[in-house]
Amino acid sequence: APVVAVVGRPNVGKSTLVNRILGRREAVVEDVPGVTRDRVAYDTVWAGHPFTLLDTGGWDPDGQGMQASITTQAELAVAASDVVVFVVDAVVGATDDDDAVVRVLRRSGKPVVLVANKVDGSSREADAAALWNLALGEPHPVSALHGRGSGDMLDAVVEALPEAPPESFDDEDAGPRRIALLGKPNVGKSSLLNRLAGEDRVVVDEVAGTTVDPIDEVIELGERPWRFVDTAGIRRRVHEASGAEYFASLRTAAALERCEVAVVLVDASDPLTEQDLRIISMVEESGRALVLAYNKWDLLDDDRRETLEREIDRQLAHVRWAPRVNVSARTGWHVDRLVRGLDTALDGWATRVPTSRLNGFLGELVAGQPHPVRGGKQPRILFATQADIKPPRFVLFTTGFLEASYRRFVERRLREEFGFPGTPIEISMKVRE
Ligand code: GDP
Repeated sequence: APVVAVVGRPNVGKSTLVNRILGRREAVVEDVPGVTRDRVAYDTVWAGHPFTLLDTGGWDPDGQGMQASITTQAELAVAASDVVVFVVDAVVGATDDDDAVVRVLRRSGKPVVLVANKVDGSSREADAAALWNLALGEPHPVSALHGRGSGDMLDAVVEALPEAPPESFDDEDAGPRRIALLGKPNVGKSSLLNRLAGEDRVVVDEVAGTTVDPIDEVIELGERPWRFVDTAGIRRRVHEASGAEYFASLRTAAALERCEVAVVLVDASDPLTEQDLRIISMVEESGRALVLAYNKWDLLDDDRRETLEREIDRQLAHVRWAPRVNVSARTGWHVDRLVRGLDTALDGWATRVPTSRLNGFLGELVAGQPHPVRGGKQPRILFATQADIKPPRFVLFTTGFLEASYRRFVERRLREEFGFPGTPIEISMKVRE
């Protein structure tokens, strides 16, 4: 949902307005003794339009002068939001602090809904009208305390919301899900494809050299069609005296471009190789969903079975989230289980966490285990939003740069809390130094 931030200097009535919008009278900020829990984001709806309301009242970008801190808050809010509700105390009129915020707003180019608060009698109308001077458009007279004018103001907010973006994957979602079958040569890709297609096609060896158009095959699995992209590259084997690996990488990259989920086949009977790991990294970097398939399971002996688990722990810890399926393309053993892995991964890939749940969770996480103090400073996460799915992308708004170990900690806990099986997740930061 789009984000609407409520900004303004202290005591203009931001929190009262937020409560009014949420339709609640009680204080929004929860006080847990000993823990600062800045609940800042709330999902709400006005006139059928859902949006996330961001209350900047509790934000305290540490230790700066009042005006600097107000400006910082406004900048963060603006960066995080689609529409800004700027609250001014109409009785007091615009102050220097307000002017500082106005400059930030104007620079941002974001749509602003100007609220003249504390207008609770006709004598105050003139105070509201005086705010035309700010050159931010029409001041909306409101009494957050008594509710007056908040409906009109919300209409203006809804009008300023961006059009719901078209789901970028809509077209593709309409057809079969797109799978890339990847893996180093001789790992069993073409055998698995034949097994899945339910027919033992003869694979004709051809000398590569012509550019072939990628050919997809639609195969029914679990009573649904799935599109295996660029199977021509699997069927038509590339025999190059040199550069075979290079051509294989090209094919992998091209297939990744076109797929939603990649099945990486590895040979369970042999130690993992550099090439296996490279292919897995390519999937991670592509942001596609990932399923690991351990093929040639029929060749496993007890010794190998033991080293296998340790190898997975050691070498594949970074993709622990990927569903694993053990199969034998030769005998057909467990091949039907692939569908479950694909479904799991595609679900994780498209998971969206509501902003309020995300911030509620992160608030507790950060309170329980704050970032270590570095050089006398302690970076804090002020607000987070999930900017995208497929794969899930998160943006953290922070005061200071979070070190890598802390980012990994946050990612690990996000996965524990919300799942995300089968998908890489991206976390980026917007830092206020
Ligand atoms: P590709 O290069 O990845 O397409 O691999 P192929 O499908 O051509 O398989 C390479 C070799 O491994 C062939 O000799 C297959 O018969 C063999 N193979 C594939 N899958 C299995 C399996 O599950 N078990 C065993 N024992 N051999 C397999």
